[in-house]
Amino acid sequence: MSAATFRNAIAIEKSGIDGWVPFRYELIGKSDTIMTGGVPRVLTRGPNKGQRKWGGPHSQVAVTQVEIDAAMAKYERETGNCAECEGSCKTVAGWSATDGTRFRECTKCDATGKAKTTEAA
Ligand SMILES: [Zn+2]
Repeated sequence: MSAATFRNAIAIEKSGIDGWVPFRYELIGKSDTIMTGGVPRVLTRGPNKGQRKWGGPHSQVAVTQVEIDAAMAKYERETGNCAECEGSCKTVAGWSATDGTRFRECTKCDATGKAKTTEAA
């Protein structure tokens, strides 16, 4: 969830290709990302059966932090939910092989799940 979800959605929209999925992320500076992707096919046989393979053609899109912030702000305006936790009040705190995904209370919305509005309604 959170910013990574929005980043993927923006990249898919920018690619303009149905079924486009990114498979490589290159960070530029602290906040912007070049994403390389294409339309994967799912292997139906062999030892890697069920895995996705990007045979090409590949294309690259850049997603900036400004675009992610704008997408999250738009989501909050339209839904009234906190964009970080998408209304669930929890965000992913980490992952480990023993415990699986760990969650913590969302700090963006103080675990209310609601977008904080700066303007009076
Ligand atoms: Zn939240």
